[in-house]
Amino acid sequence: MKKHNFSAGPCILPQEVLKKASDAVVNFNGIDLSLIEISHRSKEFVEVMENARNLVKELLNVPEGYSVLFLQGGASLEFLMTPYNLLKVDGKAGYLDTGTWSSKAIKEAKLLGEVDVIASSKEDNFNHIPKNYTVPTDVDYIHFTSNNTIFGTQFKEFPKTDSLLVCDMSSDIFSRQIDVSKFDLIYAGAQKNMGPAGTTLVIVKDEILGKTGRTIPAMLDYKVHISKDSMFNTPPVFPVYVSMLTLEWLKNLGGIAAIEKINNEKAALLYAEIDRNPLFNGFAAKEDRSLMNVTFTLANEAHKETFDKLWNDAGISGIKGHRSIGGYRASIYNAMPIESIQVLINTMQQFEKQVS
Ligand SMILES: *Cc1c(COP(=O)(O)O)cnc(C)c1O
Repeated sequence: MKKHNFSAGPCILPQEVLKKASDAVVNFNGIDLSLIEISHRSKEFVEVMENARNLVKELLNVPEGYSVLFLQGGASLEFLMTPYNLLKVDGKAGYLDTGTWSSKAIKEAKLLGEVDVIASSKEDNFNHIPKNYTVPTDVDYIHFTSNNTIFGTQFKEFPKTDSLLVCDMSSDIFSRQIDVSKFDLIYAGAQKNMGPAGTTLVIVKDEILGKTGRTIPAMLDYKVHISKDSMFNTPPVFPVYVSMLTLEWLKNLGGIAAIEKINNEKAALLYAEIDRNPLFNGFAAKEDRSLMNVTFTLANEAHKETFDKLWNDAGISGIKGHRSIGGYRASIYNAMPIESIQVLINTMQQFEKQVS
């Protein structure tokens, strides 16, 4: 029986997507060739790329004037591409520091220019999203991380600014409805909520590019990738294909409005148990709780072995917390079935009976 996969990333994908993807590796669409051995310029693959792009546009309602790209290098390379493409020579960027990934993005941006850290929750080990900060007006762009995968916090309201707005949406893209027109650049590594590792989705407003006065290396230049329809060099054909399948799955399910409703229900169930069960403590501030990554700790560390054995025996995988906060992290991305969450909740209740 398949395990209940709560992994934070690479993460669970729909079972039917895995099946279709494995078929395509052997024989793609009945052409007697593998998806991963055909030319990326073949009409078969060009169609995959177009479909994937169109599904992103359709699901997220991407307005005219934006380009959708599938790049490589993960979200981590976007930490560098963002300042390369948007931070003016002698300019300044504003960053919200809400976790490990934000901090890494800040570090990269500092390589290219001045960074104003607008607000940070670092002193509280990133257990909440800062509020009541002042957004500077003299910056080229504002950068934030919509969902903090490691700490389990999520922006419920986005920063308001007249500067460009950039968001690392790696771990909650396609999980809730967003208004793309409020953003100038969105990026997301595929392996949290869209597909396997190996491709990064970028949604960028065309008119913001080419204004920094910098010379940008070709591979780091969004304009180059836009002009080549994400095929400036050989694209990651397999991750793009699996992302396409996952987006098709999401569309058939009813799109983002439908998955958002399910995600709200799934998270509410699990948080209710954490709040009810005296053996657990939630990590993140309640109002900032992530709907994707649920972080919690044991009230009494002495019971660790007992709980670990119980969830292991229940076929649960991937809930060990990140080393920076310890405890547990249940990642409940789009493809996580509610049944698996129920199994975790049952295990938490069984644990309560066993130790009390
Ligand atoms: C996982 C993650 C990253 C890093 O992604 P890579 O694709 O491994 O570079 C960046 N930001 C967030 C929010 C993440 O969850």
